[in-house]
Amino acid sequence: MQPFPNFTLIEHPLIHHKLALVRHRDTSKKTFRELVEEITLLMGYEVTRDLPLEAIEIETPLEHTHGLAVSGKKLALIPVLRAGLGMVEGMLKLMPSARVGHVGLYREHDSLRPVSYYFKITPDPEARDFIVLDPMLATGGSAAMAVSSLKAHGAVRVRLMSLVAAPEGVQRMLDEHPDVQIFAAALDRELNADGYILPGLGDAGDRLFGTR
Ligand code: URA
Repeated sequence: MQPFPNFTLIEHPLIHHKLALVRHRDTSKKTFRELVEEITLLMGYEVTRDLPLEAIEIETPLEHTHGLAVSGKKLALIPVLRAGLGMVEGMLKLMPSARVGHVGLYREHDSLRPVSYYFKITPDPEARDFIVLDPMLATGGSAAMAVSSLKAHGAVRVRLMSLVAAPEGVQRMLDEHPDVQIFAAALDRELNADGYILPGLGDAGDRLFGTR
């Protein structure tokens, strides 16, 4: 049973294995980046499970047959800058024609509150299914603000994909955006006083981009 109605834990032996590596403090920047992409790709399989299909006709080299194809679903990936960028390539490998928008938020050092500095998405938001990419769902402030901005610009169908979530962030999303399903590879214990997830994996942006 999932502890939150808005939360889907994606479990798979490969995801457990790669997540353990990504958490390790001695994992190199290069390996960290590769693992984030690989975990995202593996998770993407589950996040896109409900994509609608349509019947298509196919000519194999031998005969005529029928198949199924994803039916013109318009997807948009929205990495929350900057750590969300680490998840984009994994999703694009699965869905190369998805559009990519960007939401720029940073956490104010003292209040931990998100501040918006950039927003750019496709011009047809009501027609798209949005997948917000944010590897760490901590307080939920950034994710909630990203979703609010998307909705304010016309988005109606939004889901959130994180590698690691904290209960506090999932609850905040449930309070502010109960319609948004959250997919994550782990639900960790809690936040520390600085807003970091415990046990977590540290600062995902710093580890992706080597800024610490
Ligand atoms: N952002 C991160 O990168 N790591 C955390 O633990 C929390 C927020």
